[in-house]
Amino acid sequence: MKICEIHIGKLSIPLRKPFKTALRTVHSAEDIVVKLVADCGAIGYGNAPPTAVITGDSQDSIVAAIRDILAPKIIGFDVDNLEGISTVLDGALLHNHSAKAALDIAAHDLFGKRVGVPLYKLLGGFRSSLESDLTISLNDPEEMARDACAAVAAGYSALKIKVGNEPATDLTRVRAVRGAVGDAVRIRLDANQGWGAKEAVRLIRRFEAEGLAIELVEQPVKAHDFDGLKYVTDRVNTEIMADESAFGPREVAQLIAMRACDSINIKLMKAGGLRNAVRIAHLAETADMRCMVGCMLESKIGITAAASLAAGKQIVNRADLDASVLLAEDPIVGGAQFEGNRLLLPDAPGLGIREIENWRHIATLPGHT
Ligand code: MG
Repeated sequence: MKICEIHIGKLSIPLRKPFKTALRTVHSAEDIVVKLVADCGAIGYGNAPPTAVITGDSQDSIVAAIRDILAPKIIGFDVDNLEGISTVLDGALLHNHSAKAALDIAAHDLFGKRVGVPLYKLLGGFRSSLESDLTISLNDPEEMARDACAAVAAGYSALKIKVGNEPATDLTRVRAVRGAVGDAVRIRLDANQGWGAKEAVRLIRRFEAEGLAIELVEQPVKAHDFDGLKYVTDRVNTEIMADESAFGPREVAQLIAMRACDSINIKLMKAGGLRNAVRIAHLAETADMRCMVGCMLESKIGITAAASLAAGKQIVNRADLDASVLLAEDPIVGGAQFEGNRLLLPDAPGLGIREIENWRHIATLPGHT
């Protein structure tokens, strides 16, 4: 089975309500999608959301990287050589991890279809369903408390609370949410690089002193500040998770060598796809560091791929895969199913995705003259 044609397109999916973090406010999910067509007619699906503030990738840069550099390198490749495809993608240009992830995910999907096995089983098959948390956007404390209560009423027992814009208000936010949802709900915080190291230590110690029972704090300091991250990790009892700092396998190896964090948030768009994400999971497991698998604001293609990794590997003990729940529409036919706060992996080959509806075509390779 050889890759003979690659289609690039775009999805624009409205959100149920604006998504707000310390880094940005978003009103719709924009997603670049790819279809890898094999000579037998089978199709592999992949995606790349442009998350410029985190990955540095824009819509135009993703399309250009795929169309002009990456896709021509894998047309004609045998799908059986999945390792070869991922290696060629990784070596074809620096950075551009989202564009690489789109093609790597699609190649894994096609490989799963080729061998007739669901992707989560190819990646280990440790479990077939997952519990996801739900993200509460950064707003004023009262609105966040209301959103948290609505999430608990909808069946969520773990919430990821966005903080990181102003420490005094962040303390009020966390108190308001904990007060509103009670003690039974697990609360994770994500500061999205919004605090200084000393500020983070003061604040997290305050959460601890007030008994706010914070399960973990994600990325308290700037992505590049590994020393600051270690400073925080060494000085608080609360679990500190690296997200934006833990970009690809090399960064994770460095974080582990420094013991700069307690756990790792793996995202396919940071890692550059499933092959590198698996490398991260294995590095973390070797160092006895637990992993969460997270996502960007993206369509269900990437969510199903990330869920397949999370389900496949025992070292992944948390999933933050709520993007599909934040979207007002689902144009992806097949893939993971949502039942309340649980994701069920498809019992179909690859990602189990059958079609993308309402996508706007951008380019087809090879170009026809
Ligand atoms: Mg995060």
